[in-house]
Amino acid sequence: MRYYSTNKSTPDVSLKEAVIKGLAADNGLFMPEKINKFDASFFERIHKLSFQEIAFEVAKKFFGEDIEEEKLKEIVFETLQFDCPVVKVSESIYSLELFHGPTLAFKDVGARFMARLLNYFLSNRKDPVNVLVATSGDTGSAVANGFLGVEGIQVFVLYPKGKVSKIQESQFTTLGKNITALEIDGTFDDCQHLVKTAFLDEDLNKKLILTSANSINVARFLPQAFYYFNAYARLKEKGILENKELVISVPSGNLGNITAGLFAMEMGLPVSKFIAANNTNHVVFDYLKSGNYKPVSSVETLANAMDVGAPSNFSRILDLYRYSHKTISKIIDGYWYSDAQIKEIVKNVYTETGYLCDPHGACGYEALRESLSENQLGVFLETAHPAKFTETVEKIIGKGNVKLPKKLAAFMSGEKKSNYLSSDYVDFRNFLLRFTT
Ligand SMILES: *Cc1c(COP(=O)(O)O)cnc(C)c1O
Repeated sequence: MRYYSTNKSTPDVSLKEAVIKGLAADNGLFMPEKINKFDASFFERIHKLSFQEIAFEVAKKFFGEDIEEEKLKEIVFETLQFDCPVVKVSESIYSLELFHGPTLAFKDVGARFMARLLNYFLSNRKDPVNVLVATSGDTGSAVANGFLGVEGIQVFVLYPKGKVSKIQESQFTTLGKNITALEIDGTFDDCQHLVKTAFLDEDLNKKLILTSANSINVARFLPQAFYYFNAYARLKEKGILENKELVISVPSGNLGNITAGLFAMEMGLPVSKFIAANNTNHVVFDYLKSGNYKPVSSVETLANAMDVGAPSNFSRILDLYRYSHKTISKIIDGYWYSDAQIKEIVKNVYTETGYLCDPHGACGYEALRESLSENQLGVFLETAHPAKFTETVEKIIGKGNVKLPKKLAAFMSGEKKSNYLSSDYVDFRNFLLRFTT
């Protein structure tokens, strides 16, 4: 399969090149040249397959031309060493729980897949590969843990100082080994800008092999389609999809997750509509309503993994639907919630149903509650475990009410090691060169 750039001013590349480069040479994002569809018969039997089996079928559609079947199966099965179950919250609303992986957030799926794919493609290399990742919280931990201990790969995690929770920070600053944490004096967008600048720095790229593990990388973003198919399968298995339209609500920041869902739909997954649920950073909502896309600086909110003012995967959505606002706004609906509303939602869902949402999932839930009609069934993506945001969540529902899973407690007891840097590109560049030579 060939991959083209959304900016269309650089030649197509192979999967291997797309994965290693991350970002296209013209600053665009890679897109597969075609989207292979499933026959209707696949959806007739999908509920008889396990999550891993479904994921393997989906992976073959994406990567089948480029990786031997046995190897691909191994990568998929090793990636998915945990489940993504669908849990009932109310009569017509279900939660797709994506927090059962090692760092308790959905990014584990893409990060673990990418680490394995990169290792496969680079198994004969001589020079070390440097993975650069900017994080607003959960990406850093998922990528760091996905790559931890993988030989010949150095990971640099850039995060905005003071803007990620203690728990999130502990998940990428305590690992050591091939993981280096960089605490940047700036915002998430500054971190993202540093990473993008490094990729476009020709001289630096002659000296170092650089790759990105942000949601822009096709190896991270495409595997996220796996769990959309699984959600459908598990609902079908429960027999509750009869005569119902499926609406999927995705708490969105950089839009990688929802874009993977849109790919699933293009592959034939029967979804009637997607919802992009935003926090106060609602450029997507504004675009859907007005047709005008105006990226802005991000502002801090309680759902901080969605604090994105210029969502990187927006260009993929535009490309997928040929820049048609009419098509895009028919397929995707937009909602957004302020911090005050998020608190209210977490509290109400907890008292009314007993289900504890994290601040991101809460936005996804509420958008369904507001929008669902009689003949619709809604699934929201519970993108992280509420315990990752214990401070916030306990302020809402009371102290001592959030149980810290064992996996998280283990991170919290580790020692923090990180390097403090300004948001000036020259500092970052010098650090990389000093560190790697
Ligand atoms: C990253 C993240 C999001 C946003 O996902 P995108 O793919 O960037 O839209 C939402 N919730 C949580 C918990 C996240 O970590």
